[in-house]
Amino acid sequence: MIVDALGRRFRNLRVSLTAACNYACTYCVPDGKKLQAADFELSAQQLVYAVELLVDAAGIEKLRITGGEPLLSPKFDALLPAVMGLPLSDVSVTTNGQLIPRKADLIVDSGLRRINISLDTLNPERFRAIARSGDLQTVLKGMALMREAGLKIKVNMVPMRTQNADQILPMLDFCLEHGMELRYIELMNMGHLRFGSGFQRDFLGMEDILEMIAARYEFTRTDAPYDSTAVRFEIPGHGFFGIIANESEPFCSSCTRLRLSSNGRLYGCLSNAANHDMRPVLALPHHHAMASLQSTLVKALGDKQDLSFKGEVTVMKFIGG
Ligand code: SAM
Repeated sequence: MIVDALGRRFRNLRVSLTAACNYACTYCVPDGKKLQAADFELSAQQLVYAVELLVDAAGIEKLRITGGEPLLSPKFDALLPAVMGLPLSDVSVTTNGQLIPRKADLIVDSGLRRINISLDTLNPERFRAIARSGDLQTVLKGMALMREAGLKIKVNMVPMRTQNADQILPMLDFCLEHGMELRYIELMNMGHLRFGSGFQRDFLGMEDILEMIAARYEFTRTDAPYDSTAVRFEIPGHGFFGIIANESEPFCSSCTRLRLSSNGRLYGCLSNAANHDMRPVLALPHHHAMASLQSTLVKALGDKQDLSFKGEVTVMKFIGG
């Protein structure tokens, strides 16, 4: 197993199925134009082979299927059942939920146990202003279908000072009421946010978020797994919520994540544009591929930041959130 000087190794793999998305969220794309698929995206078969190789070569234990919007890609239908058969301790999907009603049977039949659904507001007009597409009711229907099927749901919300700060409490109430765990994701200084004043204007840190929650609930900080991205809190008698505090409490020193983009590039760090082409390896039979992957994985692990997320021009949709 490849381990760095901080004791980090890759345990979690995030695979971006496609760069295409049916939303054009304000924090993700600058101009409201939905992103299209990247050139030369890997097929479902290549993606499954890549996951198999990374399980064996890097010791990947947990897989998250993301994008772009993973449910938008026809590859999702073949990939999900295939990866559910791999020796992984956990598989999850991150989706904006818009297409869950269409894919609910496939998801449930695959045996998936948990799903992350991104939702930034419960206000229909604000929803369209942030996502610049889609329909709130369809997402809520998708959430209900997943709950009824018994999946564990985490809801991802990116709180922004000028766009949805007033939704911090309503979103928490809603998630607690429906047995879902809300994850506030601190706005990351990525892609177009690196240029201009949008990040400074809209960033809301963990302290700000907790202050708003404290106006209504008493909560205590709870233990989270060593390599968890979220700081987790319990509201006794109600449930849990978390904050992915990239800026306020960086978790780089315990980061175990590796990312594979839809066009076959491996990224060791979200805050580093360095990437490594996995395509040539995918053309090799398993034992040759394993040998050739070792040096790539050493380089990818070397791309990790030691202390804190610095931001990167890379657009989240390309490498998967
Ligand atoms: N389309 C899927 C979805 O919406 O969940 C998966 C991809 S999306 C890139 C994954 C997550 O990244 C979403 O929860 C989204 O809100 C989050 N995200 C994207 N850009 C972000 C940014 N600049 N800061 C914080 N979170 C971001």
